[in-house]
Amino acid sequence: MTKINPLGIHWLVLAKTWDADGARHAIREAKRIGYDFIETPPTPPDSEVTRITRETLAETGLGAAVCLGLAADQDLTSADPAIRARGEAFLMEAVDTCALIGGSLVSGITYSAFQKYMLPCTPEGRAAAIATIARVAEHARPHRITIGLEVVNRYETNLLNTAEQALAFCRETGMDNVKIHLDSYHMNIEETDIAQAILHAGDRIGFFHIGDSNRGYLGAGNIDFNPYFRALFQAGYTGPISFESFSSTMIDQPLLGILGIWRDTWEDGRDLAEHSFTFMDALVKSAREAHRRALGRAA
Ligand code: MN
Repeated sequence: MTKINPLGIHWLVLAKTWDADGARHAIREAKRIGYDFIETPPTPPDSEVTRITRETLAETGLGAAVCLGLAADQDLTSADPAIRARGEAFLMEAVDTCALIGGSLVSGITYSAFQKYMLPCTPEGRAAAIATIARVAEHARPHRITIGLEVVNRYETNLLNTAEQALAFCRETGMDNVKIHLDSYHMNIEETDIAQAILHAGDRIGFFHIGDSNRGYLGAGNIDFNPYFRALFQAGYTGPISFESFSSTMIDQPLLGILGIWRDTWEDGRDLAEHSFTFMDALVKSAREAHRRALGRAA
C-alpha cells in the first residue's frame, strides 16, 4: 500500500462468512467500489481459504490487513503461561498468513483478550504482553509487516483504552514495527481531546479505523469526523484508514455478544460500503484542503 492514506473496509461489511465464496465476493466487491485494501480474518496459513484469499487479492490487486481480537484462552496478559503461549502461537500464525496473502499489517486487539474485564490489568500482565508483542514483531519484521495495537474502549480490554497508554506500550516493546491503531468509535468514548490524542501518538500511528458512535452509517451517528481527519493530516499521517461497522445482519455469536450488537444499524452491506467509501474519500479531501489553506494563511 504505497498510496497516501489508502482506504479500506472490514470484511464483515461485505461477507457473512470468510469461506471461499465469501472471500472472493468481499474482495471483488471492495475492489469494484474503489477501496485500496480489505481487512481479512486470521485464517490458518495452510488452509484452502488462505490460498483463495491470496489468489483473489492478487487477481484484483487489492491490499490486505489481517485483523483480530484474541480470545480469553489466548490472553497475552494472563498469569497462566500456557494461555499466553497459545496467544503468541496464534499471532505468529496470523503474521505468516498476512505474509502469504501479501498483507502489510496485523492489527486489532493483539495484546489482551477481546472482552469485558472485571479487574484492571496487573503490571505483570502488561509486562508479559509487551514481551510477547516484541517477539511477534521480531517475527514480522523480515516480512515488512507491522503489528498494530488497537486502542479500544473499557468494555473491550482493560489494557489500552487511550492513545497515551498505547504510545507507552509501543515504546516499551523497543520495536519500530509496533504501531498504534486508533479508532474513532473508541476514541469518542475514551479520549479527553481527539486532536491532542492523535497528535500525541504522532508518527507511531500505523492504522486508523473509522466508525460512527453507533457503528452504523458514517454521519448517521453523533461523531463529527472533521477533527479526526484534520488532526491525522496535521500529524502527517499517510497510512491506511479503514471503515469498520457491525450489524446483526452479518455477525453471529460470540462476536455479537462481545460487541453488544442488540440493534441493527444497517441491512444492506453493499450500500453501506459504497456510502462509506464516498464519505471517507470526501473527508480526506476536506482535511487536505483545510490543511493547505491554513498553511497558505500562515505563510
Ligand atoms: Mn476498530
